[in-house]
Amino acid sequence: MQKQFDLFQAAALMGRKGGLSTSPAKQEAARANGPLGGRPVIANLNPDGVSIAGCTIIYAPKGQAGEYSALATNPYRGCGHKCAYCYVPDVLRMSREDFDAGATPRPNFLGLLQADARKYQAAGVTEQVMLSFTTDPFNPFDVSLTRPTIETIKAHGMAFCTLTKGGSRALPFLDLFRPDRDAFASTLTSLDDAFSLKWERGAALPGDRIATLRRFRDAGIFTWVSLEPTLDTDSSLAIISATHQFVDLYKVGRANYLPMTNTTDWKTYTHRVIDLCHRLGVKHYIKQDLQPFLPVGYPNPRRVPQHH
Ligand code: SF4
Repeated sequence: MQKQFDLFQAAALMGRKGGLSTSPAKQEAARANGPLGGRPVIANLNPDGVSIAGCTIIYAPKGQAGEYSALATNPYRGCGHKCAYCYVPDVLRMSREDFDAGATPRPNFLGLLQADARKYQAAGVTEQVMLSFTTDPFNPFDVSLTRPTIETIKAHGMAFCTLTKGGSRALPFLDLFRPDRDAFASTLTSLDDAFSLKWERGAALPGDRIATLRRFRDAGIFTWVSLEPTLDTDSSLAIISATHQFVDLYKVGRANYLPMTNTTDWKTYTHRVIDLCHRLGVKHYIKQDLQPFLPVGYPNPRRVPQHH
């Protein structure tokens, strides 16, 4: 059943008779509801219990993306990291050439984001919102929306997580992250520069991404690594060994639709990953594609708190 939240009703319940609010709770409600009694915010939770019906800017990703985050937002169209394995151009029905040409701000993004964020706040949703699945918040071209997007999310009571291959391009944004709410994540496919340059031509090199993960972790921020796609199983295992001292969580997937991994023994890979993670004492989530290879009853929670 959908729940409905109306901040006018909430304000009435709190005894608000009009005029300026002074208590923090009333000020928060007033902020969400617009200055001096703007239009009421009606927010209907979807059956998933976290996303709001009708919101498309802050949305619940489906399928494999949904395993990574309950909520997400994508401020830009295009990316520019030029990953050869990227499926997003197909999803967005863009030519790969246009997608790879760079990231551009989506029209009227901040206004639309604000409208969605008000609804999430009205419903009391405080989840992390991930940036991003169909672009990169620290892409090499245009990051003008990244800071205001994060500020808007925070101003409406939510948390955020960034997933990037931008490496040190994220460092100027470090001040926005809160150790007790937010998270920083990076995708890694190899420790080898030549391999990365072949598969992720426009992305930061692996060493830069790893150094940036360490910087965020040193600042007290929860860090995680996406080991998806797995292009080379030995490389993914080497990444865990090289980074586990400053990475809080690994999310492990496979590669689909790539001829080079057609003959990969995914069962052996899954077992090697969990053995290594146990030996090193690191948290991990094995994604759905690899779950058939897990031992029966293996604990594999889909959502763990991504903050300290
Ligand atoms: S960073 Fe992500 S969105 Fe950008 S090209 Fe690579 S896979 Fe696609």
